[in-house]
Amino acid sequence: FSAGSEYDLCVIGAGPGGYTGAIKAAQLGLKTVCIDKRGPAGGTCLNVGCIPSKALLQASALYHEAKATFESRGITGTENLKCDFDKMMANKNTAVKKLTGGIEGLFKRDKVKYLKGWGKLTGPNSVTVALNDGGEETITAKNIMLATGSEVIEKLPFVEVDEEQIVSSTGALDLKKVPEKLIVIGGGVIGLELGSVYERLGSKVTVVEFLPTIGGIGIDSELSKEMQKILTKQGISFKMSTKVTAVEKTGGALKVTTEPAAGGGAESLDADVVLVCVGRREFRDGLGAEEVGVELEGRKVKVDDTFKTSVPSIYAIGDIIHGPMLAHKAEDEGAMVAEYLATGKKPHLDYNNVPSVLYTHPEVAWVGKSEEQLKAEGVEYRKGKFSFAANGRSIANMDTDGFVKVLSDKKTDKLLGVHIINAIAGDIISGACIGIEYGAASEDLARVCMAHPTVSEVLKGAAQKTAFGKAVSG
Ligand code: FAD
Ligand code: NAD
Repeated sequence: FSAGSEYDLCVIGAGPGGYTGAIKAAQLGLKTVCIDKRGPAGGTCLNVGCIPSKALLQASALYHEAKATFESRGITGTENLKCDFDKMMANKNTAVKKLTGGIEGLFKRDKVKYLKGWGKLTGPNSVTVALNDGGEETITAKNIMLATGSEVIEKLPFVEVDEEQIVSSTGALDLKKVPEKLIVIGGGVIGLELGSVYERLGSKVTVVEFLPTIGGIGIDSELSKEMQKILTKQGISFKMSTKVTAVEKTGGALKVTTEPAAGGGAESLDADVVLVCVGRREFRDGLGAEEVGVELEGRKVKVDDTFKTSVPSIYAIGDIIHGPMLAHKAEDEGAMVAEYLATGKKPHLDYNNVPSVLYTHPEVAWVGKSEEQLKAEGVEYRKGKFSFAANGRSIANMDTDGFVKVLSDKKTDKLLGVHIINAIAGDIISGACIGIEYGAASEDLARVCMAHPTVSEVLKGAAQKTAFGKAVSG
């Protein structure tokens, strides 16, 4: 492609939403360009989100498991086990590089032109790119897909994030050493995942959470309470219904002042590192969206059911529009826009069927409605719960924490929600997603033949309880 040539599609942002949309569009025959200012493709997810956090979660989980459980499993010689933190970080960086490079490889394979630079809308069909290497390029395209994602909300008025001692998730994924004392502000998804990483590596971790519950948005409160018990047993301390009012640098250390959320006496804690993770917000800086007439709803870009914005040639997907800020949701939306533009078909995404997973140990995964949501909506439901303590494979694995809870409509038995705490909850939940997607009843799940001995059998057991009131075992 030559500079200034006309494209069918220009994608701004090469995160999971943007790169999926660009690759799918090219595969369907659209002449596509994708722009990202970050340089390496892959967006938040591959560079500073899903992938580096999971690399550290996996390495720290193995270290912790070896230290804490190998002896009881009859494997000895682990007394002198040590953590080479630099090597863990280097392996994490290798995984990130491999995957971000992999996306650029896919761009080449499918002939997506990749431009490294800052994209700014200059009209309904034009984008100016300030190239990272200097200079500017103007792109014209029949359609434009905005996929500019999100950034950390770091601006608690009293905390200045320096990404070394006072860090966001980005700095926490790149610490130079394991802190002795880590204070996590916000007990949501990032706080629990990265809090777990450092607790396993030896930090004394305290999570300060404003609400009375942990786990972030949408978590069923029964799971939230159970996880708090499990994580407390693992060694994480929680200060619930508490707000941080100051973080001060005192010599080398940090002094964190807290107060009960409802008001009351102040307390102070000391820490080597403070992780601020109180949510993320949509990123539209320097994009020029509003200037060309793209309407917002609150901070979100407003789109219709084909992801078209108020400017008919401009589409938007991923973290900058409605729905949960999750990579798989962004990916599906990117692919749907590509398919719509290339074929005119109108695929859809059931937002009630987007799974959420917290990659702690055990993991927490859910899809559909929580009990709180069903109660608030006045929906009558059946509930079946089955514990992993009654599952053969979990007992053999010596990993029995957690349960599956299956919720279905009281009259029709249609699946409404599935909630899981288990070592591999994030994998088991896919079975529930397939059920909900195809309108299954809990009885359908209860009658599926599932391999034995697997931990997934608990999904069947919980569904039996929901459908028949009893399970054969457990
Ligand atoms: P992003 O991935 O944010 O990508 C947007 C890209 O656009 C960025 O690379 C940015 O540089 C670029 N950009 C922005 N503006 C411009 C511009 N004007 N010009 C050029 N380029 C621009 N989600 C999960 O589903 N599972 C997880 O396990 C998970 N773990 C996470 C862990 C952490 C620590 C964090 C921070 C997030 C995690 N997420 C996870 C969330 C996930 O990363 C996001 O939901 C996902 O990346 C959103 O994809 P996106 O394509 O909308 O945007
Ligand atoms: P979050 O919304 O999950 O949790 C933020 C937590 O901070 C909430 O519990 C909130 O009550 C608390 N909080 C807010 N203000 C506070 C304050 N002043 N003091 C104390 N607590 C406060 O946000 P996050 O953990 O920053 O993660 C951001 C987003 O990134 C997530 O919502 C999710 O979309 C995405 N993410 C997903 C995954 C995953 O899928 N496994 C992992 C990491 C991040």
